Amino acid sequence: MILDNYDRVHDYLRISLTDNCNFRCFYCMPDEDYTFTPHSKLMQVDEVFEIAKQFVSLGVKKIRLTGGEPLVRKDAATIIRLLSTLPVELTMTTNGTRVHDFLRVFVESGIRSLNVSLDTLDEEKFQLITRTGNFHQVMNNIKLLVRNEFNVKVNVVVMKGINDHELLDFIEWTRNEPVQIRFIEFMPFSGNRWSSNQVITMDQMLASISEKYEFIPVQRDQHDTSKKFMVQGHSGSFAVISTMSANFCGDCNRIRLTADGKMKNCLFSKEEVDLLSAYRNGVSLLPLIEQSIKAKAKQLGGQVSADFNQINSSQIENRTMISIGG
Ligand code: SAM
Ligand code: SF4
Repeated sequence: MILDNYDRVHDYLRISLTDNCNFRCFYCMPDEDYTFTPHSKLMQVDEVFEIAKQFVSLGVKKIRLTGGEPLVRKDAATIIRLLSTLPVELTMTTNGTRVHDFLRVFVESGIRSLNVSLDTLDEEKFQLITRTGNFHQVMNNIKLLVRNEFNVKVNVVVMKGINDHELLDFIEWTRNEPVQIRFIEFMPFSGNRWSSNQVITMDQMLASISEKYEFIPVQRDQHDTSKKFMVQGHSGSFAVISTMSANFCGDCNRIRLTADGKMKNCLFSKEEVDLLSAYRNGVSLLPLIEQSIKAKAKQLGGQVSADFNQINSSQIENRTMISIGG
């Protein structure tokens, strides 16, 4: 069992497969020329598997693959199939563009639940946010997953003046579509030009939604980072991830592994432990993993204020979101 100094059990590992992506979402990827990590510096197939195995031996029960875009990695299918042999719940966060090519791999690997990011239902706005993406491809793939009875959660980063006027449209979508919309408060990362006045808080979101819909809260599971709600008569549901206005650090069970093999004990931590180099040098990973979790801060990586209005994003020492793996 991986326990930190606050008695939090860490049994959920999020592995980034690559910092490469076929989208350029402005809130995730810096404007400046971004150089993707060369393949040789990434964990190779066997390395992802062997490092994941070490975490599983310490009690990890759930693995989420993320990125960058995990499905742009050429050997993604091999990695998914290998990880599916471990005794874990395997899942993924994806931008949805390549889902149609992987449906069989998902089914054969026991993946039944996926998070797909889609920040807007407006095709033009989608272009503006992703700077490259094809809206219909993502939407069609969400529908394809639903038709094939996957449990689909749609991640929506809510940003003032960008897509905050679309909350009701997303809720309306859940009337007949059995998806869970997850409205995420906009978070600060290196290079994403975050400022507190772009954040729409959970309370503000719920107030807007209540202008048109009646909804009731759904019981939260222990480690949920979202607060869930149901609108009566809708096939789908919605949830809010309120990292900025009401964080969930007290129940945190998450560990992150970047595509270049660095362990992060928190999304907002500046400290990293180079597990890949240790693995390549034959050094035992277990003590390194345990020490890193013991050093985990109580909340928000120990460097982000719990009052988001006090955050000066330029003073946060962290990676870009695309190179952490959200
Ligand atoms: N490419 C995949 C995707 O877009 O789903 C996986 C990686 S992406 C970094 C993971 C999640 O992080 C996405 O849902 C994305 O919207 C979210 N994300 C990225 N930057 C964010 C930010 N600044 N604030 C909140 N969520 C963010
Ligand atoms: Fe790519 Fe996902 Fe980041 Fe968008 S949010 S740039 S799809 S990694």
